[in-house]
Amino acid sequence: MHKNLKAFVSHAPGCWPDVDATQWNDWRWQLKNRITTLAQLEALMELTPQERAGTILSGSKLALGITPHFFNLIDRNDPRCPIRRQVIPRLEETRISPAEMADPCGEDADMPVPGLVHRYPDRVLLLVTDRCASYCRYCTRSRVVSGAGEQEWHVDFEQAFRYLEEHTEVRDVLLSGGDPLLLSDDRLESILKRLRSIEHLEFLRIGSRVPLFLPQRVTPELCRMLQRYHPLWMSVHVNHPRELTVESRDALGRLADHGIPLGNQSVLLAGVNDDLETMKALVQKLLMCRVRPYYLYQLDLILGSSHLQVPVSKGIEIIEGLRGHTSGYAIPQYVIDAPGGGGKVPINPDYQIYRDSEKLIIRNYEGRTFEYPEKTGERAPCCGCH
Ligand SMILES: *Cc1c(COP(=O)(O)O)cnc(C)c1O
Repeated sequence: MHKNLKAFVSHAPGCWPDVDATQWNDWRWQLKNRITTLAQLEALMELTPQERAGTILSGSKLALGITPHFFNLIDRNDPRCPIRRQVIPRLEETRISPAEMADPCGEDADMPVPGLVHRYPDRVLLLVTDRCASYCRYCTRSRVVSGAGEQEWHVDFEQAFRYLEEHTEVRDVLLSGGDPLLLSDDRLESILKRLRSIEHLEFLRIGSRVPLFLPQRVTPELCRMLQRYHPLWMSVHVNHPRELTVESRDALGRLADHGIPLGNQSVLLAGVNDDLETMKALVQKLLMCRVRPYYLYQLDLILGSSHLQVPVSKGIEIIEGLRGHTSGYAIPQYVIDAPGGGGKVPINPDYQIYRDSEKLIIRNYEGRTFEYPEKTGERAPCCGCH
C-alpha cells in the first residue's frame, strides 16, 4: 500500500511558482488561469500521442478545462496517473462502442421543463448551469456541458419554479449541472431563496465538485449564505484519495462546520480507482474529511468511455472487500444508473445464499454461513391447544 495515499498534501503553487498566495487563493484567479488549450497544456507537461490527439479533438466534444489547483495533483512523469486520466482528453474518447449513448440515463426524455429532470416520485434534478470548474472526461452530461458539444443547453428557471409550485409531491430538489457552485453567491442565493419560498420543498441539495477542483471557491461568505437555507445537503465527487488535499479537506471542513451534511459520489473508473486498496483509502480518507461515501456509480455508457469502463464483477468485488472489513459509514451503495432512464439500481454482493418461506442461509464478510429463521404465521410456536 502506498503509505502516503491517505496523507493530506498541499501542492500549491506547484507549476505556478511566481504566483503569490493571495492570487492563488482567489477562486477567480484559479478560474481565469484554467488550462483550456493544447498550447497551455504542452507548456506545462509532455503529453502522450494519445493525449495530444485527444486534446485536439476535445474542442468539438467536451472542452478541456483544468484549474491550476487540480492540475498540480497530476504526476506529470506518470502517463498512468489517476488524476491525469480524469481530466486530460485521450484519443479513445472518439471511439464509440455499440452500447454507448449521448444521453445514457435518458434525462432528456424525463424533462417536463428544460433543465428540470423529474424521474422519481418525490424529487427532481435541476440543472442550473452548464459550466464546471474543470471537466471530467467521463462526464455523464458531456452532451450539454462545457459549451463545446452540439446540443444546446438551456434551463427555464421561471417555468421550473412554476412546475415545482404546482407539483406538491416534490419534496426534494437536487441542484446540479454543471456545477452550481460556479454561480455567484448572489445568483445561487436567489435560486435557493426562490425554492425555499415553495412550502412543500422539504429538502435541498447541491451536487458539486468545486471543493475538489476549486476549493478556494468555498469561502466563509459562501458557507454563511448556504447555511441560511437548511436543511441543505451537499454531494461532492471524489474518485481518488489524492484529490483530498489540504485545501480540499479545509473546504469540506468549512461546509461541515456550517451544518451541511456531506456525501460523496464516486465513479468506478479503470486505472483510477478500480482496485480495493485505492478505494479503501478513498472511503476512509473521506470519513476523515467528514464526508460520508454515498454512491459508487458504474460508469454510465457515455460516448467514448470504453477505456474507462470497469466490469461490474470488479465493482462487486470491491464492495465485498469493504463490507465488514472497514467502518460501515465508509461503504457507498454501488449503483448502475439504468440505461435509457430506469434510474439508479443498487448492485450488491450476494450475502443471501438461500431463502425459502422457513429460513435464510446467509454468509458474513469472512465467508462463514449462518441460518436465520424466517418469521411465518403458520409456524408460530404451538400453545399446546391440540
Ligand atoms: C440521482 C438522481 C436523483 C437523486 O437520487 P437519490 O437516489 O435520491 O440521491 C434524482 N433525480 C435524478 C434524475 C437522478 O438522476
